Amino acid sequence: MFDDYFQIPWKKRYILDPSSRPKVDCILCAIVEKSPEVINYEIWRNDKFIVTLNLYPYMVGHSMVFPTRHRTEYGDLDDTEILMLGKITKAYMKMCCAVYNVKDFNVGFNQGRNAGGSIDHFHQHVVPRFPRELNFIDVIGKTRVLLESLEETQKKLSSVSFYIERELYGI
Ligand SMILES: [Zn+2]
Repeated sequence: MFDDYFQIPWKKRYILDPSSRPKVDCILCAIVEKSPEVINYEIWRNDKFIVTLNLYPYMVGHSMVFPTRHRTEYGDLDDTEILMLGKITKAYMKMCCAVYNVKDFNVGFNQGRNAGGSIDHFHQHVVPRFPRELNFIDVIGKTRVLLESLEETQKKLSSVSFYIERELYGI
């Protein structure tokens, strides 16, 4: 019904001009390595995982959790990583409840091209879902407009370390 297009200038550029895409083998490994080639909205990391805001968010607070090791499949994660992924996800959702007063989420991953996966490096999406998401501009302009910038979201989610580290290490 509505175009799945977002008012995000750099996404438009990304689609229209492939040469503007970062020239790296793996965009998530580039974030791990803090490459200047990629725009990075990382909000938390330890030696095993990184949490970053999605550069092309589906919703405010849309984040990705991914292992620092390049792994293509969920089944490639070891038991420690699987447990840590679960705990980070739980903590991130708790934080979104506290910051945005949101209780509904989509959480998951697309593994492989046939499933809609676009990046080979395993990553899990966490997408908060707000009540009454469709707003005036959605209806009139058939576009979806994010209600805050990634910079604002990043600032609002500055308590992420507190939530994740309390979950992981009990501190
Ligand atoms: Zn990678």
